Amino acid sequence: MILSAPNSSAPAKLPSAAPKISFVSLGCPKALVDSERIITQLRAEGYELTKTHAGADLVIVNTCGFLDSAKAESLAAIGEALDVNGKVIVTGCMGADPKTIESQYPNLLAITGPQAYESVVRAVHDAAPAPHDPLMSLVPDQGIKLTPRHYAYLKISEGCNNSCSFCIIPHLRGRLVSRPAGDVLREAERLVKAGVKELLVISQDTSAYGADMRFASSPFQDRDVRAKFVDLARELGGLGAWIRLHYVYPYPHVDDVIPLMADGIVLPYLDIPFQHASPAVLRAMKRPGDQEKMLERIKAWRAICPGLTLRSTFIVGFPGETEADFQMLLDWLTEAQIDRAGAFKYEAVDGAPANSLGRDPVPEDLKQSRYARFMLHQQAISARKLAAKIGQRIQVLVDQGDKAGGTGRSKGDAPEIDGKVHITGKRPVRTGDIVMAKVDRSDAYDLFATLI
Ligand code: SF4
Repeated sequence: MILSAPNSSAPAKLPSAAPKISFVSLGCPKALVDSERIITQLRAEGYELTKTHAGADLVIVNTCGFLDSAKAESLAAIGEALDVNGKVIVTGCMGADPKTIESQYPNLLAITGPQAYESVVRAVHDAAPAPHDPLMSLVPDQGIKLTPRHYAYLKISEGCNNSCSFCIIPHLRGRLVSRPAGDVLREAERLVKAGVKELLVISQDTSAYGADMRFASSPFQDRDVRAKFVDLARELGGLGAWIRLHYVYPYPHVDDVIPLMADGIVLPYLDIPFQHASPAVLRAMKRPGDQEKMLERIKAWRAICPGLTLRSTFIVGFPGETEADFQMLLDWLTEAQIDRAGAFKYEAVDGAPANSLGRDPVPEDLKQSRYARFMLHQQAISARKLAAKIGQRIQVLVDQGDKAGGTGRSKGDAPEIDGKVHITGKRPVRTGDIVMAKVDRSDAYDLFATLI
């Protein structure tokens, strides 16, 4: 996606001297936050963002290296930028292994790995020296956000200490490094002051927050706050915005955050990747394997917080996955009644330990048919869960308001990955408003509601 500072109340047109940057941000919300950080720095130094490669002094491509399909998309974006502009800086996860990029594109200005903000800015300075009159004053306190004004991603840590056998992220982004709680909370506070209504808490492993620093405390306002998953969630919940928790690894202590959801302190929403349900496959994935126990935990969570929405991610076609393993996954989904679930077809990404487990690869056509069966099976579950909301009065955060309603999301819908609420009403609603609506009907993904 090519970025131009959409919502940072972009300053008046800069004198033409300001070098123009075209920015492509690929991959996950964590990469998006990295892009935001680089852009905030460059804008503060007086650079201008431009929508097209053609008119730019240079192009920055923030790549994704998680899957081969993502790598292909990144290489295509680099190629296009080189064709149209010719002066290109590459950063992001794929930059952690520059060989593949260099072999295909030897004439890049620079290649850096993820979170190498300084190296990217240095490369920009070398290629297009910074204007003499920085514009610090024109960059908002909360920095430049690439999401719409009313929601923002809040990255609380980098890297991961787990070693799931299908994943190369620890290799790309390193071990877990948590941000001090005080820093995270001050950033959150600035965002809420700037009008953000929903904070999406992200990292590679959100529930491991603080483990790398022994949950050390740091000052925030008049108190010390521990860098600990539940403590941070509670404090964030006190800032007056919707708090949505993403990328939550299913450690036992995740149970402790459910009462905060029941008390309305954080949203009753948990993005918790389970990846599979067959003990044999989970063992080979090096993931927590007791899915029967997981069913009991989910039941207990729902008893404490009946309105809880569970979002999860699964992998189909993992090496050695048998028909029985796959059927176990479908049966588990039926029991768990996950509200929202997505699936990836396993990809033998370079460097993933799973490639050398000596387990038979699942043929592509079988992977594809299991993927289709999974999506169909889950779609039926999601549709039933949504239909059960008909007649309920729900809060809706408006993403697009108009004179007779608009579209938004309930507490159970994260942006980009979940469904929408289509609102109709007799009065205008504005983007960013939180309104009450009564659910009239639903389909497989969305709700349709009337403003009240
Ligand atoms: S927890 Fe997530 S980021 Fe960490 S190794 Fe596993 S899949 Fe990768």
